[in-house]
Amino acid sequence: MRVQSTKSYLKIILILFLLIGIGCFLFLLKDKSYKEHQIDTKQALSSIHEGIDKTKVLEQNYRHHYTKTRHQHLRELPQDVKEKIIKGQTDGLKIVFLTFDDGPTEHTQEILDILEHYEVQATFFVNTYEDQEQTYREIARKGHLLANHTQSHNYKLYDDTDAFVADVHALDDYLSKTSRGRYRKGMFRFPGGSLNVNAPCRKAILDRGYNYVDWNVSSGDGFSDPVPVPQTIANVVNGVRQHNVSVVLCHGETKENTRKALPDILEILLKEGYSFYVMDSDLPYTRHI
Ligand SMILES: [Zn+2]
Repeated sequence: MRVQSTKSYLKIILILFLLIGIGCFLFLLKDKSYKEHQIDTKQALSSIHEGIDKTKVLEQNYRHHYTKTRHQHLRELPQDVKEKIIKGQTDGLKIVFLTFDDGPTEHTQEILDILEHYEVQATFFVNTYEDQEQTYREIARKGHLLANHTQSHNYKLYDDTDAFVADVHALDDYLSKTSRGRYRKGMFRFPGGSLNVNAPCRKAILDRGYNYVDWNVSSGDGFSDPVPVPQTIANVVNGVRQHNVSVVLCHGETKENTRKALPDILEILLKEGYSFYVMDSDLPYTRHI
């Protein structure tokens, strides 16, 4: 009887050990898979972090590239040519700064298409036309320079220097906002040209760091009477041939004959070896006063 009960005890103890053993085994198994799961999660997290880091690097590179190239779409003058112009040593140069005033209008796109066809870049002295918001961006996007020609193009403002300056600044603000960072403040043209302006307004512009420019070649389209197309071509081509550095005045966005004359003008001048650039506010340009 005693031997029998000892055997039963042993059986129970054995079963207990077995159960504890199974329990430990299951626990370890669970722990292992939990740890494996933890490792997997860690790996997943670290690859996510790696991905984020890579994205950050790419983003930084893009930003750097973008900042670096944002203004490189402007066809800028080679450094040696810039130095020659600054020193007034322009012999042998065949440089043209084509300028369009008083836009943008619904006809600006036609001009942009012609310029694109001939791979020519120009400077657009614009005013504020809120219905043309997209066009300002398009001018800049196509590699041309947006430049200040006052917000309102109102000659009466010359009688009040403060109001005139406010009008100029209003266009700067508008262009900065509208062109999404592609507007470089600096180049300015007085409505009607500098001869149309009094000394205080000219001084105000220079004091505020603008470089103002008039023109030494005119298409002749600044008056109300339309200039025939052949005459417009002759005005520009003959005018450019007389200068090493030409600043050409056009109002092609409001004058149909100028738009019609533009392809021939570019065709002739490009064949004759002239190069077209956007203006650079660091350079001296032709001024009437
Ligand atoms: Zn004008």
